[in-house]
Amino acid sequence: MSFIPYGHQSIDDTDIAAVVEVLRSDWLTQGPSVSRFEQAVCQFTGAAHAVAMSSATAALHLACLALGLGQGGRLWTVPNTFIASANCGRYCGASVDFVDIDARSYCIDVEALAGKLEQAARLGTLPDVLVAVDFAGQPCDYAKIIELKRRYGFKVIEDASHAIGSEYEGVKVGSLAGIDCTIFSFHPVKLITTAEGGMALTQDAELAHRLAMLRSHGIERDPTRLNDTSQGAWYYEQQALGFNYRLTDVQAALGSAQMQRLPAFLAKRHALVARYDELLAELPLVLPWQAPHTLSARHLYPILLADAAMRRHVFDQMRAHNIGVQVHYIPVHLQPDYKRLGFGEGDFPVAENYYQRTLSLPLYADLSIAQQDEVIARLKEFLA
Ligand SMILES: *Cc1c(COP(=O)(O)O)cnc(C)c1O
Repeated sequence: MSFIPYGHQSIDDTDIAAVVEVLRSDWLTQGPSVSRFEQAVCQFTGAAHAVAMSSATAALHLACLALGLGQGGRLWTVPNTFIASANCGRYCGASVDFVDIDARSYCIDVEALAGKLEQAARLGTLPDVLVAVDFAGQPCDYAKIIELKRRYGFKVIEDASHAIGSEYEGVKVGSLAGIDCTIFSFHPVKLITTAEGGMALTQDAELAHRLAMLRSHGIERDPTRLNDTSQGAWYYEQQALGFNYRLTDVQAALGSAQMQRLPAFLAKRHALVARYDELLAELPLVLPWQAPHTLSARHLYPILLADAAMRRHVFDQMRAHNIGVQVHYIPVHLQPDYKRLGFGEGDFPVAENYYQRTLSLPLYADLSIAQQDEVIARLKEFLA
């Protein structure tokens, strides 16, 4: 059997036709396809505003900036995430700290968060921004997080790179009450793709305006917002130090085509997860847990093996047999560039213990039943 990756894009003729149409049009970038894609994501999620960006990393950076994070500020996130969830704080000159994860959801442990906030309040070191990560598509415990936000006054960025299509208490991720900004990623292994791409969603029109301005060099063109209103129609002002974090129209057209297919992608993922859940139930594994009142978009299917040695054995054997299992995630605080800042082994034991045992099985919309059966058969073989 040919290589089965852990994640893979699904591209069909509708995607290709959408891209070709833009390539034949006048607008390869800064044209109408970007706002069309933003509209499609708003419609699906119920968000009021969406700002497409060149990546989720760019969107995280600008969300932090637009929410006022700067030199001397503090950002907290979890160790069990992709490094970008933490790096965005450092881009702004802020310090980064972590809160351990919950042993069942693999998302932020809200009790640990409450304890750390109480201590930080006493020390005068409360965070300005919390980046909550919907790991594998599982939404965090937002009722508790928003309650803590009200008490302590930090902003919440929801890193929903894994979670377009997830729901919390029946509400789609992207429009959850109390979240300041939600981030999606459109990297090919994620739920939909624009090759590279990301988006920041918010209910706040001013924040959306700021995000759009920072996306394009900090340039303001709205005549009602200019300092000097006496100039001609060529005139624009750089009102803040921004970046070029734009998504192209070529990418946005692919994004809109993918949005049409998202409901089918999600249905396929849920069906594959139901098969894994059923067919792996008797094995000596911990299978993913879905918190009550939530729906996961099921970006990943992380299982826990008995111990680190068993995980290493199964990983190596699966890879040797063309099955692209993966490990999500190496705890961010154990990366050399974070150890340099003073973090080390033992700082966040739940995330570290989880990391020792975890393995993500292949899961994506185009994974066939025959391929999934191969994954399951091999897993059984190497566990024996
Ligand atoms: C993929 C990912 C990112 C970064 O996304 P890019 O679009 O590649 O920049 C950030 N956070 C999490 C949790 C991710 O999985």
